[in-house]
Amino acid sequence: MAEGGAIKRIVIVGGGTAGWMTAAALSRFLGGSGRRIVLIESEAIGTVGVGEGTIPPILEFNLQLGLDEAAFLRETHATYKLGIEFVGWTRKGERYFHQFGQIGRPLNGVPFYQLWLRNRANASIGPLAGYSMSAVAAADHRFSHPSPDPADPLSQLAYAFHFDASAYGQFLRRYAEAHGAERIEGKIIGVEQDGESGFVTAVRLEDDRRVRGDLFIDCSGFRSLLLGQQLQVPFEDWSHWLPCDRAVTVGSERISPLLPYTRSTAQPAGWQWRIPLQHRTGNGHVYCSASMEDDEAERILVSTLDAPTISDPRRLRFTAGRRTKSWEANVVAIGLSSGFLEPLESTSIHLIQHGIQKLLGLFPSRGISSVERAEYNRHMVNSYEPVRDFIILHYFANNREEPFWRQVRSMTLPEALQHKIELFREHGHVFRYNDELFDIPSWVAVMLGQGIDPSACDPLATALPEAEVLRAIAELKRAYEDAAKRLPLASDFIERRIAAAQ
Ligand SMILES: Cc1cc2nc3c(=O)[nH]c(=O)nc-3n(C[C@H](O)[C@H](O)[C@H](O)COP(=O)(O)OP(=O)(O)OC[C@H]3O[C@@H](n4cnc5c(N)ncnc54)[C@H](O)[C@@H]3O)c2cc1C
Repeated sequence: MAEGGAIKRIVIVGGGTAGWMTAAALSRFLGGSGRRIVLIESEAIGTVGVGEGTIPPILEFNLQLGLDEAAFLRETHATYKLGIEFVGWTRKGERYFHQFGQIGRPLNGVPFYQLWLRNRANASIGPLAGYSMSAVAAADHRFSHPSPDPADPLSQLAYAFHFDASAYGQFLRRYAEAHGAERIEGKIIGVEQDGESGFVTAVRLEDDRRVRGDLFIDCSGFRSLLLGQQLQVPFEDWSHWLPCDRAVTVGSERISPLLPYTRSTAQPAGWQWRIPLQHRTGNGHVYCSASMEDDEAERILVSTLDAPTISDPRRLRFTAGRRTKSWEANVVAIGLSSGFLEPLESTSIHLIQHGIQKLLGLFPSRGISSVERAEYNRHMVNSYEPVRDFIILHYFANNREEPFWRQVRSMTLPEALQHKIELFREHGHVFRYNDELFDIPSWVAVMLGQGIDPSACDPLATALPEAEVLRAIAELKRAYEDAAKRLPLASDFIERRIAAAQ
């Protein structure tokens, strides 16, 4: 059963990254349908102003919009990203790489990492990252687009971007406006609801203007103006699993060479990111306020930078969790208004993209159907929870000695994650369920990187002749190393891409 009338006026509340990504996609796919798309934002309130790391599905979003990569690189100060280097997460000084893309190639149908597990005691095998094209290229600071030839190791390169999320929002604002979206500047001070259906009918601005709509997309950030404040959809707090609730951020001078990866360094009560952009480096320290004072967190951040600061430190507060529903009545929340997970695996912008794509996939026409709304909510739960669990894994599996790390090591895990870890401890098996974002190579890299050791490898790996396995491993390693030498430095590749398009 559908409630409400035809969806002719879509009102997006908020013009941060979520608002403009939504406006860009809706104007691209619905712009020609005679529907009116309006975005309201308030310069006085501003945006959260952070966000720099992304993951490979962002390529699909940009492609769907038909964005020109060179223009995107130039306008958002973007660099290429091949993965994340984790430093000190198991013990001080230890490091591992969470690569984008595959690890090695299967042999007789046996996943490569199982062959690696079987032989890792052999001194010549080296770290798992030596068998990922993306990780090998990242270690050499090199980058190129993947080769279209599946036989070429370079076909296994997988990438995303580091960019300035605010600049991305503005880039998409120009796109959305060019595709017919209208922008209204103003602060919303009131929300009108239909007494019977509970549908939001209009929002009222400070200057008495009234903006009516049939469908409202709440992109109002942590305020969650419509979904949280007006419709009172509860917030499910996940801070017992993810206790970090503060961040301090600061920009520093650009580093040279430009590195095609994020670095995430564990700190006594949290962790610190370093994200190289074309014009500066983004840095931030995420920490748990119950275990560390704000001043101490800022002192750690500023004293461990690679280069001098170029801005004043900024402090932010948050709580990990999500609204129990993302779509209630005729309000769909996308972005921080719908939930927040710390940026450890750069997943917030992806969850925005996912929310938009699912909304387009279930877009209402003659009113809003409760079954489609329920389906949307089901998808969003299925998207958030595995990402949450993936982030928890980094905290739980650690061997650090500080009280914060001892505390997170002793937490009771979500059941699904507990199962995943126990299963991995047996024969290194990982399976991907439902809409899970992270694929098997990601789980394997982080499980092993965080020191979760299977007690044995897959028996199918031990069934293969040892000499054949060792030969395949050695050949693959050489192939990745040789292929990386053919690549340009990441900074040269970016400069050439931008210059060629001018
Ligand atoms: C410390 C930190 C680091 C992060 N790093 C990453 C990262 O590396 N990768 C990643 O993917 N994500 C990251 N994120 C998340 C990312 O910043 C957000 O997901 C993204 O910026 C989207 O924010 P938003 O548009 O939902 O909210 P906001 O940027 O807060 O935008 C809210 C909008 O609503 C408007 N608004 C609010 N109230 C009103 C009102 N009453 N009237 C009119 N307008 C109103 C505001 O003006 C603004 O335009 C990070 C977040 C934090 C806190």
